[in-house]
Amino acid sequence: MKKGIAASKGYAIGMVFLYEEHEMIISDEKVIDSASELEKLQAAVALCKEQLEKIKVKTIENVGEHEATVFEAHMLILDDPEFVGSVEAEIKNNNTNAMKAVEMVSNNLVMVFEAIDDAYLRERAADIKDVSKRLLANLAGHTVGLEIEKANTIVVAHDLTPSDTAQLDKTKVKGFITNIGGRTSHSAIMARTLEIPAVVGIGDITSSVKNGDTVIVDGVEGFVMINPDEATVKAYEEKIASYEIEKEELKKLLNVSVVTKEGKHIEVCGNIGKPQDVQQVIANGGDGIGLFRTEFLYMDRETAPTEEEQFEAYKHVLEAMKGKKVVIRTLDIGGDKTLPYLPLPQEMNPFLGYRAIRLCLDRKDLFKVQLRALLRASIYGKLAVMFPMISGIEEFNCAKEVVEECKCELKAEGITYSETIEWGMMVEIPAAAVMADELAKHVDFFSIGTNDLIQYTLAADRMSEKVSYLYNPMHSAVLRLIKMTIDGAHKHGKWVGMCGEMAGDEVAIPTLLEYGLDEFSMSATSILGAKKILLDQ
Ligand code: PEP
Ligand code: MG
Repeated sequence: MKKGIAASKGYAIGMVFLYEEHEMIISDEKVIDSASELEKLQAAVALCKEQLEKIKVKTIENVGEHEATVFEAHMLILDDPEFVGSVEAEIKNNNTNAMKAVEMVSNNLVMVFEAIDDAYLRERAADIKDVSKRLLANLAGHTVGLEIEKANTIVVAHDLTPSDTAQLDKTKVKGFITNIGGRTSHSAIMARTLEIPAVVGIGDITSSVKNGDTVIVDGVEGFVMINPDEATVKAYEEKIASYEIEKEELKKLLNVSVVTKEGKHIEVCGNIGKPQDVQQVIANGGDGIGLFRTEFLYMDRETAPTEEEQFEAYKHVLEAMKGKKVVIRTLDIGGDKTLPYLPLPQEMNPFLGYRAIRLCLDRKDLFKVQLRALLRASIYGKLAVMFPMISGIEEFNCAKEVVEECKCELKAEGITYSETIEWGMMVEIPAAAVMADELAKHVDFFSIGTNDLIQYTLAADRMSEKVSYLYNPMHSAVLRLIKMTIDGAHKHGKWVGMCGEMAGDEVAIPTLLEYGLDEFSMSATSILGAKKILLDQ
């Protein structure tokens, strides 16, 4: 048995799929039989096409048509004589081995495209790199990406990026386990949204298992069992069954509102990462959306989403929530969330660096596209917008100035937007919590981001399993800052939500309620459990 950090509740029994980045060894050796090398190449090209077709179909189903176009572009490269034709010629004419030939042709084409000052062609260079990586992996017989074929799979990886996690196919992947990471790393949060049991931060799980091993993931206690005996499997099958019964029981609370003894209505809302996630919040009886992490709209693609695409995404969520409040957070990229098309500087401490509102105020071009889309969508529901990582009033005011600029532009273009949007900020930097009573004069609401607030208060990296023992939501210093934030807001008649994972933490909920928190927002799957605890107080 191995102990890690319980990252996503639930139990799973399945077979290991080791997700490893293989080191690619490409030799310079010449081949004698170029005909058989050509056959190998054709087989690998065919396999690539087959894989890409599957990913394309899955992406259309799970994410959307637009996101799938990148895979079409990759398939076209595999039909392009400029690429595959050149690789074949290299094998035939110079007896180069297939892998070396792919590497040579790819490097040449990438160099040519990257030298041209044209964004479109530079993207094609990225496509060629991607396709070549896949082709080389297939030639070497390695697994490529997270394309899971078998049902009842447990993914085991050193780490999973948030976008890896977003791609997991729930019908096949029953759980995941990683060497590193913490409870509030974004892949863990994503696992909770997907309702996939997960244990992270085990340290050496990738070297302790092999493909095909049977493992049990205990996402409640944070244990993993490798090749368990029959009795243990049976015990866990029973746990899975009673866990399902418990979940059914909670469904009774679907349409129940939480009202305190004093008659105050407490909102229990859901956090989402993609527009489609809104259905899960509705299905779990959420009172609204307390956090839409819009950066997920920007991931798994090669360019930033356009104003039109973002407008459609926000409109979809607002309409689906039928007048219930939707809090949309502006782009929070940086930290553990990166974008392939937005190179960020290498920093010693990315969580303390160029991220979130800092980046947006520096890249107004990106920021304005999002703000215009938000303003345009605002007429379709009850919108509240908040800015991440605000450290002081200057940043909030600067962000609001950009909003005003966008409003002026829209007015001049004759485009309408709602005048009743609420404008708030996340309180996730201790400085903001300490100054809450001042900041509250300027904002419509606060939302406490405890995932970051805890790591900054206790100087304990939220991604690090090594210091996870320090990462304690119930630490007195954290609780004081939360209380200061709530009191500061209430002094000026403003409401306070919490969208960090602590809002769904069974141990913390009673204290937060006592402090006067107005809105609790969490992974959709935690909503009913949280309602039950709140109703029991
Ligand atoms: C937080 O920091 O608590 C939060 C909700 O934001 P994120 O987890 O996306 O950093
Ligand atoms: Mg945060």
